[in-house]
Amino acid sequence: MAAAFARREYDFLNELGLQPHNLGCNGNGVWKGNGNTVTSVNPANNQPIATVVEASIEDYEDSIKACGEASKMWMQTPAPKRGEIVRQIGEALRSKLELLGRLVSLEMGKILPEGIGEVQEIIDMCDYAVGLSRQLNGSIIPSERPNHMMMEVWNPLGIVGVITAFNFPAAVLGWNACIALVCGNCVVWKGAPTTPLISVATTKLIAEVFERNGFPSAIFTCICGGAEIGQAIAEDTRIPLVSFTGSTKVGQIVQRTVHARFGKCLLELSGNNAIIVMDDADLALAVSSVLFAAVGTAGQRCTTCRRLLLHEKIHQQVIERLVDAYKQVKIGDPLNKDTLLGPLHTKTSKTNFEKGIQMIKSQGGHILTGGSVIEHEGNFVQPTIVEISGDAPIVKEELFAPVLYVLKFQTLEDAIELNNSVSQGLSSSIFTRSPEAIFKWIGPCGSDCGIVNVNIPTNGAEIGGAFGGEKATGGGREAGSDSWKQYMRRATCTINYGRELPLAQGINFGFQSN
Ligand code: NAD
Repeated sequence: MAAAFARREYDFLNELGLQPHNLGCNGNGVWKGNGNTVTSVNPANNQPIATVVEASIEDYEDSIKACGEASKMWMQTPAPKRGEIVRQIGEALRSKLELLGRLVSLEMGKILPEGIGEVQEIIDMCDYAVGLSRQLNGSIIPSERPNHMMMEVWNPLGIVGVITAFNFPAAVLGWNACIALVCGNCVVWKGAPTTPLISVATTKLIAEVFERNGFPSAIFTCICGGAEIGQAIAEDTRIPLVSFTGSTKVGQIVQRTVHARFGKCLLELSGNNAIIVMDDADLALAVSSVLFAAVGTAGQRCTTCRRLLLHEKIHQQVIERLVDAYKQVKIGDPLNKDTLLGPLHTKTSKTNFEKGIQMIKSQGGHILTGGSVIEHEGNFVQPTIVEISGDAPIVKEELFAPVLYVLKFQTLEDAIELNNSVSQGLSSSIFTRSPEAIFKWIGPCGSDCGIVNVNIPTNGAEIGGAFGGEKATGGGREAGSDSWKQYMRRATCTINYGRELPLAQGINFGFQSN
């Protein structure tokens, strides 16, 4: 019989293979956990949902060994066959879409449509990766030497380590794992320590697919844990590529560690994203977009709009419309149908919001709406708009909460300069009807971000494009386009099918063996 959770409303977790107490490491196809016990809490009321025993360093070691063994088999499996397994993973997730989406919403705190959207994103990535499994094409390059052929061959790396952040506890795994798997790599995944139930439930579904097909489930290994396990992954020479998603501060530590051992790093770090609204913009479109970009996911997306740059001619008008829209935002339990703004993820996030508001005030910021925490057992705060100088130090930082800074500009050039004036370079957007402004914006003297949008919000990217940002956002690219190349080893291969040894650049070495 399924074990009973403290609250009846959590019973759906049984259908995802979860229990009130869970083990968090699936090394060797067996669930185990000899590390710390962590309690997963509901951000809407700070009540416990279930506990997970994290992996110890010994568990980690066992799991990586099993994963390394499985890797030999997986990398020799034909890519389209690997694609077929990923297709089945997509099907398994599809069958639990609502349940898993509900778990994302319950444990992370984002509203239900966004929770379901995250799982849908992994499914979309599975579909994409299935097609890709038949297109991991190399190329043939004309050789300058007679009777020679030169080509590029793409081979798997081996094991890909994936470390993810709390705010996208499912989708970011999908961006990495679906591509890594079809490319012939095993995956070792460490999710955030505050979202272990999502890690365990997702891995159980994936493990079942591998086992059903006669493959070791160690091909996809989940290791629940905190910084210690993350650090072990970064240091591990058996893991040639570490894909890290999280803060710039931790990403920098991970990058140094991985590079010190000549590993490869794929970094998806903090953002500080701006929306520019020109005086010719469709203001209704702009206001709806800013609302979604700044308030969605309670301001806890890497792509959340944090800076709103308004042309002086429409400045006041947009502020009035936006303040009005903010006042209509329904705040509450993320699982309720009408809720638009759920809680922040942890009590610490709520405290950081309060500290941020104090700093904003001390740096001359003027609160136009919001600015307070909500007295409640959950981590709720008011969506906030602040008028502030672009030079205030806090504007240059990523405050991970629904706080929007409004700045005024006069010309497109000024707006682009403001957009580019922060250390982060993830996402950016302009609202305008002018082709001239659009092409300047996306051109060499335009936005310096990895994502450069026009008349859409900064967030809500599609999986078909390469996702990622420049500067302190880390430079990584994940999901679509040619991101797959980062998960493979490129071999430049030259074959001499003649009996002479002509050398490149016409070099004559002056020696002929008989
Ligand atoms: P975080 O940096 O605190 O943690 C991220 C992950 O790193 C977690 O799994 C954590 O356990 C692990 N970790 C912590 N210390 C480590 C260490 N020393 N070595 C290795 N791993 C370690 O980030 P967070 O608070 O979970 O997430 C929010 C941040 O992530 C924001 O800055 C957000 O912008 C960023 N983010 C970026 C993207 C993107 O695609 N650019 C996507 C999602 C989130």
